[in-house]
Amino acid sequence: MYRSIVEQLAIYAVRNEIRSFIRLKALKYREMRSRYLQLPSHYVYTACQDAMTRAKSFLRLKKRKSTNREYPEVRKISIWLDDHLWRTRGYMEVSVATHKGRISVELEPHKQYWRYINGGWSLGSEAKIKLDYEEKRIVFYLVFHRDVEPYEPESYLPVDVNENNVTVLMGRDAYLFETRIKEDTLGYYYRRKSIQRRYDQAYGVNAKAKLKALRGLREKKKKQDVRQKIANIIAREARRHKSAIILEKLGKKVNERMIRGIKDKQLRHRIFQAAFRGMQSAIEEKARELGVPIVYVNPKNTSKMCPVHRKPIKYSDNSRIGRCSLGGELWHRDVVAVWNLLFRALEGNGSNAPSFRGQPLDGGCVPFTPTATYEPIRISKSLWARWKSLPPIRIDTILNRMKR
Ligand SMILES: [Zn+2]
Repeated sequence: MYRSIVEQLAIYAVRNEIRSFIRLKALKYREMRSRYLQLPSHYVYTACQDAMTRAKSFLRLKKRKSTNREYPEVRKISIWLDDHLWRTRGYMEVSVATHKGRISVELEPHKQYWRYINGGWSLGSEAKIKLDYEEKRIVFYLVFHRDVEPYEPESYLPVDVNENNVTVLMGRDAYLFETRIKEDTLGYYYRRKSIQRRYDQAYGVNAKAKLKALRGLREKKKKQDVRQKIANIIAREARRHKSAIILEKLGKKVNERMIRGIKDKQLRHRIFQAAFRGMQSAIEEKARELGVPIVYVNPKNTSKMCPVHRKPIKYSDNSRIGRCSLGGELWHRDVVAVWNLLFRALEGNGSNAPSFRGQPLDGGCVPFTPTATYEPIRISKSLWARWKSLPPIRIDTILNRMKR
């Protein structure tokens, strides 16, 4: 019933180009309500919200000409519940209003559930449920809230997301977290393709075995894992030092750098999604959770200019090391980028960055010696993958450990 309501509403909204929930509700609530009298009335209300988000994103797709469908397809659904439709009874039981009255369901909590319950989070009034026919169970999606004390940032922590690493400037040290995002994305892409080819030949295009093999790659989960761990380290470090995180403002230009040399359009899209958007939103989410402010700066040419002399750096061929055209010193490309992100934020360059009094603004604080290549501290994935935040160890310890 819920699916059918959402479907009708979404189609109606798209057909009439309705983009507001209030308008959709005003036009269709009564009609839907009278058609589904056996359902608690709030289902029509939440279905309106559900349908509206679907209609909106479909209209966006259509505007961008990314779909040639006439109407959105309501395939996967989860049922939206508001505070009238469900409530908890203690910690282990949930009661849901249905067309057959209120029913009680025993909760089998995910281990994160206790983490939130015991960690000072409060349970939100909205929830979603999914009917899992295969496993004969109902899956609950709960929302937890927590108020975080916001703070006035006292310094900045610039973050540069690259195709195969995430570089951050913590204090005066640039840390380069190796991620291999690009290689992994390419690897998964080719593995998927080969599975598809193999199974399509053997069993036909819609075989269940193929889906199972594709799920076996666990691509999404593994990528999320990488992102969340790095986002955790960055956000915790920022919180510890009362810093604001600096991120690049994403634009069309940015992704060019990531996907240079890749012709396949779909593949370019995937790499962009996987690397930039994914990493950025993981950091944004974690920062929000910890109350860490974020500042966005214009990313244009951040790795091209020497942060000390403000003159172009010349990179030969595909090298990540370049030479300053004025001072002659060597720079690592990703280190240049984080320093320049910092200066842009300090200068408030086209962004909403506050400028800090007392924070050194000039290149004088860049720790460089004219003869040495300014290299970041490389941290391999095998190392950072086990960290919860940046451990208080000295740099030379990390370097020694990595050489071993
Ligand atoms: Zn220079």
